[in-house]
Order: sequence, then C-alpha cells, then structure tokens
Amino acid sequence: DQVANQIAAGEVVERPASVVKELLENSIDAGATRIRVEIEAGGRKLIRIVDNGSGMVRDDALLAFERHATSKLRTSDDLLSIATLGFRGEALPSIASVARVHLETRAAEDDAGTVIEIAGGSILRVEDAGLPVGTTIAVKDLFYNTPARRKFLKSEQTELAHIAALVTHYALAHPEKHFELHSATQALLVAAGVPHAGDRMFQIFGRETTGLMLPTAAELDFARAGLPEPPPWKREEDYVAADPGYIRVSGFVSKPELQKLNRNSVYVFVNQRLIRDRLVLHALTEAYRNIIPPTSFPVVLLFLEMPPQEVDVNVHPAKTEVRFRQPSFVHDFIRDTVRTTLVQARP
Ligand code: ADP
Ligand code: MG
Repeated sequence: DQVANQIAAGEVVERPASVVKELLENSIDAGATRIRVEIEAGGRKLIRIVDNGSGMVRDDALLAFERHATSKLRTSDDLLSIATLGFRGEALPSIASVARVHLETRAAEDDAGTVIEIAGGSILRVEDAGLPVGTTIAVKDLFYNTPARRKFLKSEQTELAHIAALVTHYALAHPEKHFELHSATQALLVAAGVPHAGDRMFQIFGRETTGLMLPTAAELDFARAGLPEPPPWKREEDYVAADPGYIRVSGFVSKPELQKLNRNSVYVFVNQRLIRDRLVLHALTEAYRNIIPPTSFPVVLLFLEMPPQEVDVNVHPAKTEVRFRQPSFVHDFIRDTVRTTLVQARP
C-alpha cells in the first residue's frame, strides 16, 4: 500500500508547487476565507499552509491519509459533475508517503483539535490539542525518502517562483479570500479579501497594468447554440437528457500596448479551477491576431463558467488540463468574445 501511495505520489507530487496546489485546493474546498502559505528552501524543507476552514474531526483527519478513503466519486458518471476541486482522495496519502507531515486541525463541533504526525506514510503520533478552528498542514523534507525524485528538483528560486505563480493564480480566482505567501525572509504576497476580481487584479498587478486592462464578458445558452457534433463522452440519449446551461466568459484582457514576452501572464479558470489549456490559449492568440505581433503575448485574466458536464477535469491528476465536450464551440466563443472587446476599444 505504501508502494501504491508512492506511485500515486509520482503522478500527484511532481514538485513543491504541486503540493502547494493540492493543499490550497483542500483549504478552498474546506471553505477557508484566510489562507496563509509559508515556504522554506523553495518548499523542499518546508511547506506550511494555515487555513480557517471547516477543519476535521479526529476520525476524518485519520481517514484523510488513507488512499481513496475520501474519494467523492461513487460512479464514473460522477466524474463529469464534480463541484469541489478535490475528488480523488489521493493527494494527502501521496504527499504523506514522500515527506514528513504535521497536521493540526479542529472542527467547530469539537472541543479539542487533533495533531497527527506522519513520515513516509507511517503514523507516528496522534494527539488531542487545544487549537483554533481550521487546519494547519506542514509538509517537511519533501522526497526525503525518494532520493531519485529529489534530484529532479530545480533551484530554490525556481521552485519558489512556481509556488508564487500558483498562489497568485488562486488569489486571482478567489478575490474574496485573504491570501498570504511568505518565504523564510520575506512576504511575497499579502492580499486582503476584496469584493471583485478587478480589485484583486489591482492588488496583484498594480496600478499601471490594471489601467491597461479591458473588462470583457459574454454569456450564451448552450442549448440554443445549435451545436452540431455529438458529445464525445456521453451517448446521444444522455445528451438529450443533460441539463441545458449557460457558458459564461468574463474577466480582463490587456490593451494592445501592454505586451509580454511569454504566456506567464495568461490566467485562465474554468469553474474557478486553474487550467492551462492549448485550446484556450489558441483562442486567445486568434483574438489578438493583427492586434499584437505574433511574437508577443497579452495579459489575460479569464473566467469560464459552464455546467460541470460540459468539461472533463479528469484528464490528468495534476488537473490543469481539461477536455471540453464541445471544444470548437468553446474555442470560438472565447475568441469572439475577446476579439469583440478588443475591436470595440479601438480608438
Ligand atoms: P480530495 O481533496 O481529493 O478529497 P485529499 O487527499 O486532498 O483528497 O484530502 C482528503 C480529505 O481530507 C478531503 O476530502 C477533506 O475531507 C479533508 N481535508 C484535507 N485538507 C483539508 C483542510 N485543509 N480542511 C478541511 N478538510 C481537509
Ligand atoms: Mg484535495
């Protein structure tokens, strides 16, 4: 079983940033409104996440480290309609199999909290403790027992840069939450909760960039879009029975004068899940065709919302790839929405 966990860890835990991603998503799923991330040595020595979410009662906290014990999937059809970010029940067991984990958690309904210590998948200590409601997870000495994996880690600065990009992504997707990211020596991000995505963009990108961004938005009824192709992962009769729903695009796209040398400033979310998707990137490139040179890239903050059955998030455990049921429709809808915004803003 420990072997199964380490193999799963190979899929889920590629580098420190993947640990941060899983822990952040757990905090968000737990309804946290304040999330603090602390990093030492690029995450190799320490990743600590403190949240004020629901916390766990002792039995649930112990179960959380058992593989698939907490899977939210009952049938394979559930795969297409997941509302939470996590669903496999694989992340914590995987992380705990390749690091030393110290968990402190307390649910509101419990008088005392629970402290659990695990190293290399073995539980070393379980105790009661007086704790505030919420969860703190410290992941120490990542890959201490898998030297082959440790060798693949990049420099501390590179790993920290990946983590910072990731925390920035989630902070952008959840403007109402308070986010902090600290390294051993400095505060890299402190963003108090704000009402709108535009306010969060201002906090993170600053006045100058925000001043060069245009709001964009559109929505369309899937059912009325007259889509020709049959859905690739459901039978025809399921498709007819499936809920109709809207696809919405909203966010901000940069004016032509704001250009970047790479795509690192393109932030795309589907149902609040961070994605990195070639189809969406291609749609954006097309929207900017002849507006900025093909060698440069825009700054984009784009939120896609659609019925869960329209998007498959189960392509890869790291979950940044997705598959749309109607890819060319989604592609053209994004392209046309952004293009219209850019053309209308022309002087
Ligand atoms: P998944 O997120 O896929 O369910 P994880 O291994 O990431 O699996 O987490 C296992 C379970 O532990 C979660 O389903 C959740 O019930 C619980 N859990 C993990 N982190 C937290 C947290 N920060 N606050 C509350 N519960 C948590
Ligand atoms: Mg999870």
